[in-house]
Amino acid sequence: VRFSVVSLFPEIVRSFFETSIMARAVERGLVDVDYVNPRDFARDRHKKVDDEIFGGGAGMLMKVQTLKDALDSIDAKGKRVVYVSPSGRLFNQDYAHRLSREKELVLICGRYEGIDQRIIDEYVSDEISIGDYVLSSGETAALVVIDAVYRLVEGVIKGESLEEESFSSGLLEYPQYTRPAVYDSMAAPEVLLSGHHANIVAWRLRERVKKTLAYRPELLAGDALDARVLKILHTLLSEGE
Ligand code: SAH
Repeated sequence: VRFSVVSLFPEIVRSFFETSIMARAVERGLVDVDYVNPRDFARDRHKKVDDEIFGGGAGMLMKVQTLKDALDSIDAKGKRVVYVSPSGRLFNQDYAHRLSREKELVLICGRYEGIDQRIIDEYVSDEISIGDYVLSSGETAALVVIDAVYRLVEGVIKGESLEEESFSSGLLEYPQYTRPAVYDSMAAPEVLLSGHHANIVAWRLRERVKKTLAYRPELLAGDALDARVLKILHTLLSEGE
């Protein structure tokens, strides 16, 4: 997948592409990135990229001309163009899966009060919110989308690591432990050291259901609950946990 990041502050995004798993994905040619800065398309000597908002109200807006020229410079029209915005559709793992199938993704990072609606109407295919809170900048939101998407691209991460993680089957992930088995008198659950595969699988599923029930009960309200999950749920509820 190729990400084109439209941003006034590309340095915020750049380090992510140069680090760890992402750096390796770029090196292996699975991921590619380029940056377009609307400021490079400003025509006045102050390199202005924002302006006051029609109808009044506090703050400034990213204006049309610089953003449009930036988008045209990468032929964004007709491509999958994401604008990260608190008033967008809510992002989730399914959405990330869908975006991970694209060959090319353009991401517009907003600043100030956001961007002129005409850019959204003309260029944006996906207006996406990463959650019900307001950030000061689109760069951090775009990084969230990029991170969730690129790791699903074939070959970036081993398939089995993706299978059991949170949301993969409508449940949150089970608690995990690593060596040593006891640290400062804090012991890892014995079952995990038992080598008894079936017991471990059962323990993990039970823990997933328990955690989901405690933190995100609405996830369990979904349509097709697995029979095993349902059984655990019944036991937990009758135990009063
Ligand atoms: N005036 C806007 C907030 C602008 S925040 C409003 O009230 O809706 C500035 C920029 O941060 C936005 O243009 C957007 O790109 C980004 N941003 C802020 N919160 C976000 C969120 N929850 N999801 C995605 N992007 C967000």
